[in-house]
Amino acid sequence: MNIEQERLEALEILYYSNIENLIDKDQRFFRFQGKPKFDFFQNEDIRIFGKQKNNVIFLNIFAIDEAYRRKASDEVEYFLLHEIRHLFQHEEVFCLNNNSEIAIGSDIIRKWDYEFSHYSPATDEKGNASQAYAKQDCEIDAYAFAYGVMKYKGKDVDKLFLPPESKIEILKMSEEWVKQFKSENI
Ligand SMILES: [Zn+2]
Repeated sequence: MNIEQERLEALEILYYSNIENLIDKDQRFFRFQGKPKFDFFQNEDIRIFGKQKNNVIFLNIFAIDEAYRRKASDEVEYFLLHEIRHLFQHEEVFCLNNNSEIAIGSDIIRKWDYEFSHYSPATDEKGNASQAYAKQDCEIDAYAFAYGVMKYKGKDVDKLFLPPESKIEILKMSEEWVKQFKSENI
């Protein structure tokens, strides 16, 4: 194993417990049973924070390290919440397609289902930012949920990234989340 690989694996061990702690603290917001599973991957493009495969969240160790070095742990929490919301979406799609009980309306779940099989990633093969990415309902929903949790928790949300293409819609939806959390007093 080369030195760079050793360094990255040491970072993964270092940050593993940070991520676990964030999950434990925010579990009350997730709207699903069971603890989200996560692992790491390595991509030097730090704009790519996480992805989701087979109901496991994969976090880019380069992006996480960069954020913690800037002491921007709120950004890590924000993007982790975003990925966790994608887990919820996938679970709802699975339930709808298997005639199990769903937690929300079926129209939006059908949209997510379509988007997951026709997904536009944040960047293309050349690394250019995609216009279509932020307009997908599954992305708007994930950003709104994460932003709403952070706002409800009293975090400095002005520092958090919002894709400009869908900013207005995300902010509107996140206000609904804040109202919801307040009414539940969680
Ligand atoms: Zn996303």
